[in-house]
Amino acid sequence: MKTASVELHLDVRGLRKRTGGPQDILDAWNSSVAQIFGRTLHTGDSADLLLPDHRKLSYFVISTPAPVVVTDQTDFSIYSLTEVPNAYPPCRYCARVDQRRAGFFKCDQCKEERGTGLCFDHVRLLRNAIRKSKVIATCEEHLPKCECNERAEFWCLGPGCGGRVAWCSRHQMQHPTSREVYCSKCYQQIYPACAVGSCNEVAHNRCEHVDPAVGEPCGRSVCNIHVTRWQVFGYEKIGLARCQQHRGIRALSDLEVAWQLVAGTALRHLRGAQNKYNLPTLPSLKNILLKARRQKYSARSVLVFFLTVEDQLKQIRQASSLHRKMQDLITRARPRWKEQVETEEKEINEGMLLMERLKAILAQSGMSDFISVIELSDYRPRFFKGPTPRPALFVRLPQHLVPRFIGKDGVKIKGLSQRLGVEVKIERLA
Ligand SMILES: [Zn+2]
Ligand SMILES: [Zn+2]
Ligand SMILES: [Zn+2]
Ligand SMILES: [Zn+2]
Ligand SMILES: [Zn+2]
Ligand SMILES: [Zn+2]
Repeated sequence: MKTASVELHLDVRGLRKRTGGPQDILDAWNSSVAQIFGRTLHTGDSADLLLPDHRKLSYFVISTPAPVVVTDQTDFSIYSLTEVPNAYPPCRYCARVDQRRAGFFKCDQCKEERGTGLCFDHVRLLRNAIRKSKVIATCEEHLPKCECNERAEFWCLGPGCGGRVAWCSRHQMQHPTSREVYCSKCYQQIYPACAVGSCNEVAHNRCEHVDPAVGEPCGRSVCNIHVTRWQVFGYEKIGLARCQQHRGIRALSDLEVAWQLVAGTALRHLRGAQNKYNLPTLPSLKNILLKARRQKYSARSVLVFFLTVEDQLKQIRQASSLHRKMQDLITRARPRWKEQVETEEKEINEGMLLMERLKAILAQSGMSDFISVIELSDYRPRFFKGPTPRPALFVRLPQHLVPRFIGKDGVKIKGLSQRLGVEVKIERLA
């Protein structure tokens, strides 16, 4: 038959803060009870037990049916505990009406009121007050105000405010796709509005037009739909962004276009994109001018535009950092540009020689009437892409002579190409 158990009260304050709940208390008891094996317990007895780690556990015998000699078979029941009192100071608002509630929170501004806290009812937590690292709690008196003097409703976690500035609901902005709220300034940074008034798209592109008079970028925000890119850095790189006002090349002179390319590139360098963007090549400038003007430029002629920009920059008395960067970029690009001119001129020569040979072939082929009207349009040494690019010779002809030049099923033009050793093509100007 099982004997009735010894009923105990334990004082666990000696375990200090290391009590992790009931199991911790039981472990402490089990690891120290052997100290009283052999002792006779009576109702009302009490003693301290010392744990191996020097913490202390005290017991008080509430009742035992009869004096008990303690063995490892003795059955104990723990009925009550004395614990470390709550570590939180009382809530000072509750204290004013004679209530005691734990003040879990502390107002950062209430430095003079040490030793008091704020309970769940009396703490004021604005939206975004609970962060990963800490909680920004305030009391009623120290509720933050918005810059407009209204009572603040939320802490703005945006790039400008960094969670340190609180705002009222009138200054609260929220994007339909996000759950986060921001002040209007931070919102503008995260969700810039498109410069096209009727557009609701978020506009992350900034116009890179530079006003030559002041040396400042336009900076208008434009969405992906309304941005125009001058694709002057090659196809794999992001071209210069233009807003609707500044996208047109026709409104600019050739020289102004060159100026914009240098200024836009310099702007990117000043913003930290150093090694990514070289000044556009001469063929790039030729290309955008060709598209805008429908007119062909030689590499040498567009080089003159760039060098004129350089002269203009040298004449500026108080050069800004942008102006200096522009000059620097031109100085660095010049050797490359010179090579591009030489390459192009060499290729033009090759083209003219090929043209002379083609005329000779025409004379031998009973097509002498073509010789006086056929013109060289373009010689493109790398027209056919591939591991070994192949050239093409583009020629211009009066429209009525085209069918005879091509021949049935292209037989004529193929034969001419074969004898010339270079593919002959007829230029079709759009
Ligand atoms: Zn309270
Ligand atoms: Zn306060
Ligand atoms: Zn903000
Ligand atoms: Zn406000
Ligand atoms: Zn837009
Ligand atoms: Zn613009």
